[in-house]
Amino acid sequence: MIISVLSGKGGTGKTTVATNLAWSGSKTAYIDCDVEEPNGFLFLKPAIEQTEKVNVMVPSIDKDSCLACGQCAKWCQFNALAQTKNTLLSFLQLCHGCGLCALVCPEGAITEVPREIGIIEKGQFNNNNEFIHGILKTGEPIAVPVINRIIEKIPELTADFIIVDCPPGSSCAVIAAVEKSNFCLLVTEPTPFGLHDLQIAVNLVRTLNISAGVVINKADSGSEMIRSYCEAEGIPVLMELPFSKGVARTYSTGKLLVQEDLLLRQEFQDLMARLEGVVS
Ligand code: SF4
Ligand code: SF4
Repeated sequence: MIISVLSGKGGTGKTTVATNLAWSGSKTAYIDCDVEEPNGFLFLKPAIEQTEKVNVMVPSIDKDSCLACGQCAKWCQFNALAQTKNTLLSFLQLCHGCGLCALVCPEGAITEVPREIGIIEKGQFNNNNEFIHGILKTGEPIAVPVINRIIEKIPELTADFIIVDCPPGSSCAVIAAVEKSNFCLLVTEPTPFGLHDLQIAVNLVRTLNISAGVVINKADSGSEMIRSYCEAEGIPVLMELPFSKGVARTYSTGKLLVQEDLLLRQEFQDLMARLEGVVS
């Protein structure tokens, strides 16, 4: 069972929900696909056991063979190659490693070589629960290859519940993290911006045809706006996390809510039970 935790923007409490949920199950895996800023490890404190590099295959151009015909630049959909009057320029940070340029080069001047863009670390937390996160190298603009490599590892996991902490927003990086999920938890805040971003997230999961439920973080008197929207859209509100100093203090000290607050521990265990009911 794969549960993705996402939100239309950053800072809504997505990682708080994902990490506390992952801690609440007996046989769970936590996967951090927010590879530009993975911070689930700060709360789960996993023991890392394996590290592997993530490479993208990029073109290496033999200048002696290249006739500067521009065919490779013409076909590259990502503007990673550009043809000037006499020279072929490459911008390899933009390369997605599709290999098309090597296929269309009439001179066989292109070979593909690996270029490291990040790493994946694998380990365990809380008595043998599985942990994976990806880390995109600083300055690298393309997160999807690292996320794809993480998602490819899901079949190796033995957990009953796999919690995927997604990147924020609704970009292709989010789609890469979400598309294999059985269910999505959409985390939002009770503000007009929160509602707007929730609507974007709802459109995304509906486009992908994945069922979803909502968690309202920092729930207060404004939560009715979110509840009304969810009711009108037929989306269940599965949990409300209170807007409280205690929650903020626990978060800011790198601790899990379920370790510090018995009531919230019960809330997350109930959420896990509800997810089992909704998804099965
Ligand atoms: S491998 Fe694909 S993305 Fe990269 S430079 Fe070649 S055509 Fe462009
Ligand atoms: S297609 Fe081949 S020959 Fe033409 S510009 Fe690109 S690398 Fe050079």
